[in-house]
Amino acid sequence: MMATPKRKKVAVIGGGISGLAAAKAFDQQGHRVCGFERSADFGGVWELSRSYPDVQTQSPKDLYCYTDHPMPDDYPEWPKGPQVHAYLHSYAAKHDLARLFKLNTTVKTMQQAKGGGWTLTLNQGGADWDEHFDFVTVCTGQFSEKNIISHPGQEAFIARGGQVMHSSEYTDPSICKGKDVVVLGGSKSATDIAVNAVNSGARSVRMVYKKNVWRLPYFVGGINFKRLLYMRAQELQFNTWGKTPVQRAVAAVMKPLVWANFRGLETLIKLQLGLKKHNMVPTTPIEKEVSCSVPLVTPGLFEHLNAGKIKPVIGTFEKYTDDGLKLSTGETVPCDLAILAVGWKLGVPYLPQTYQDKLIEEDGQYRVYRLAVNPDLPDLGFVGFNSSFCTVLSAEMVANWLVRFADGQLADQPDAAQMNANIDMMLNWKRNERPAAQIYGGLCSAPFHFKHFDELLADMGATKHKRGPVGEYFSYPDYRAYGEYLASTPHYRVG
Ligand SMILES: Cc1cc2nc3c(=O)[nH]c(=O)nc-3n(C[C@H](O)[C@H](O)[C@H](O)COP(=O)(O)OP(=O)(O)OC[C@H]3O[C@@H](n4cnc5c(N)ncnc54)[C@H](O)[C@@H]3O)c2cc1C
Repeated sequence: MMATPKRKKVAVIGGGISGLAAAKAFDQQGHRVCGFERSADFGGVWELSRSYPDVQTQSPKDLYCYTDHPMPDDYPEWPKGPQVHAYLHSYAAKHDLARLFKLNTTVKTMQQAKGGGWTLTLNQGGADWDEHFDFVTVCTGQFSEKNIISHPGQEAFIARGGQVMHSSEYTDPSICKGKDVVVLGGSKSATDIAVNAVNSGARSVRMVYKKNVWRLPYFVGGINFKRLLYMRAQELQFNTWGKTPVQRAVAAVMKPLVWANFRGLETLIKLQLGLKKHNMVPTTPIEKEVSCSVPLVTPGLFEHLNAGKIKPVIGTFEKYTDDGLKLSTGETVPCDLAILAVGWKLGVPYLPQTYQDKLIEEDGQYRVYRLAVNPDLPDLGFVGFNSSFCTVLSAEMVANWLVRFADGQLADQPDAAQMNANIDMMLNWKRNERPAAQIYGGLCSAPFHFKHFDELLADMGATKHKRGPVGEYFSYPDYRAYGEYLASTPHYRVG
């Protein structure tokens, strides 16, 4: 019989979806959890002061919930930001998680402690203090540090009354009224804001972005995209990692069918959205591009493009001038308000450079086993360090894996050599076989959710019940089933 694992004092950094999942998982096993959230409320990206108007999930509600806590029946299929925020509060209340967190508390830096664990330097209300933890769970997400950029002439533009802001600062749509608005970027937040600016009475709206990307309609050919794209049968068609020679041979035989499937999907999307007439057809085949960065089509986007209310421009900003904004295309467009939807800086800024050097390769790719731990940074793990198309389920799965890893309770507890070999295999696959998987430092599990979850569950010693071929291959991940798989893992408590 395995020895009872020792009770640890565990720091959870961040109070978003992942921080709540991690706090629950470690608390449930009996650890002493101390959560730290730098803002005044839970929710992370869904915290109300950070959400732009009309924000809604890209994931359908049954793919964006914890396994034991479905979203309310009266929520729409794609809940709005305040609904997600309320849902997260209801989850925290259900598991009494607020008692574990200190809000308005920032982790400034952290150092490995001599006898093991980490010493965190914390700050609350201007006062710093150091505190030791046996284990640290990083849950600060991929959207915590704004990517701030500027262009020549910006200061003078602002002095003349122009406004420049990051997409996350766009919380008051009334500022658009009667203005010439230019949005930089082509992501989901860029299109959400462009549509909102039109609806809020902007005089003109332009969306300036570098390249065309595939955008998925919420309904493809009238069918909810979750029924088409979130299936294991679909996932198996993407070029995955760790293929055996037999799997490679099967993939070679199936290649023409896979090719035809994706060309069919592209044709459907092109016709449905009218991409050609807007010069918005991407050049990369869809199967090579699908990753966490693929946006869904903001409702109203193509209606506004068709009506000429949003003008798409392929290019970037060059400089602000007396007449407006000069673009890389050579044209100068009118601009009173520039909204920079240029994303976030990925990273762990409070982790000193010596540790970052162990975590991040020179080309920006992260060394993390199962997207959760780095063998050279003991007593430390990540939850929600990865993007996915079903982040809540993904965070819960990784949180449960991580607590078992920390307690030495995985059915297959890996040593450093095994983890490094796996990390190297994954990096090789990303660099040479699937470049799209290098997005966000390689921290993206889409479109391989099933495979990622299979690995985590196998490590945890879970029993999977058979869902039948239809359920298993042609249905999206069922949060209830994953709850049952997690419940089937060997039980233990720390002492
Ligand atoms: C507009 C928008 C829509 C999205 N829609 C979807 C979707 O439909 N489906 C999907 O799967 N994903 C979606 N995402 C991705 C989303 O980021 C994840 O789903 C999820 O919310 C991430 O949660 P998290 O807890 O990992 O990170 P976050 O929500 O970013 O939370 C991290 C928390 O850490 C805190 N923090 C950071 N640094 C420190 C520090 N030093 N000390 C203390 N606290 C700190 C932050 O204040 C924050 O509260 C969306 C993201 C955005 C921005």
